[in-house]
Amino acid sequence: MDVTEQRQSRATGTILGLALGDALGAPYEFHASPGITLRGDQADMCGGGDLGWAPGEWTDDTSMAIPILREVAAGADLLSPPTQNRIVAAWKQWAADAPDVGIHTRQVLSGLAFPAMAEARQQAQFIHEAYGKSGGNGSLMRTAPVALAYLEDATAERTAQAARALSELTHVEADASDACVIWTVAIRDAVLRGSVDVGHALSHVPEPRRTRWRTLLADAHVGQPGNFGNNGWVVAAAQEAWCALSRAGLDVADPATHTPKAFRQASENAINAGGDTDTVAAITGMLAGALVGARAMPEPWLKVLHGWPGIDAGELVRLSGGGPA
Ligand SMILES: [Mg+2]
Repeated sequence: MDVTEQRQSRATGTILGLALGDALGAPYEFHASPGITLRGDQADMCGGGDLGWAPGEWTDDTSMAIPILREVAAGADLLSPPTQNRIVAAWKQWAADAPDVGIHTRQVLSGLAFPAMAEARQQAQFIHEAYGKSGGNGSLMRTAPVALAYLEDATAERTAQAARALSELTHVEADASDACVIWTVAIRDAVLRGSVDVGHALSHVPEPRRTRWRTLLADAHVGQPGNFGNNGWVVAAAQEAWCALSRAGLDVADPATHTPKAFRQASENAINAGGDTDTVAAITGMLAGALVGARAMPEPWLKVLHGWPGIDAGELVRLSGGGPA
């Protein structure tokens, strides 16, 4: 592959990695560590779980990312209010009959008399004040396509701004938007260069929160899967994902470690952490996928991958700008 093909494989890889992690983890959501071993074959996509997912079916994590991905594919500016209005309207339409809208996101979307950017931000603030928190993992899980929006820019500035703005459509807490900024800038760097400079990703978070996140990621790097508390919280989810990568031997800065085996192992580690398995695996998969690229992903997994709104892996590849996976 030439440089352009490699970059496209990584751009497609982040979207497929998100959806694969989501679908692999869905059967085990809200249970203790399932202790699974992923083999890279079709049996890994077993389906089931409390919500009766079909084999290979993704959940809300990928479904909420798709309206963002569609805007990026159409060349829209994610920072413009009309674009964010369309994204909120698509989420509202999806949530009307989706089986698995997260509690916080459902509270925000169901309260919208008119689904648009300003109304969503206002409702997010209202729900945040009513419950005293809005630091769930529900905005981090959908952030992958934001990384593909401004790849031609000289800096990651607009990428970071868009990651924060889209997080704030539903989640007010800085923990949620900071995690989105770090993850999204890291994915952008992975797509462009094939490796991640953690310091660069952290540089888009204001001090003193930057120092806190540096410590959180350092702790995750040396930690054990399943030891970060309730991973419905965005901080614990990000730490579990970072730990899953590290324990798979996947060094974000070293392309020699970005192998198909490491991608599969990172997905397995994320799921075996237990708890919000689909989301932790989705957060892991979107970054791992941007590092290893679409070509490193098991074909039997891609064959059965599908979900709302009635699309499959081929359409995810097309929307992320690539040819056949
Ligand atoms: Mg989910």
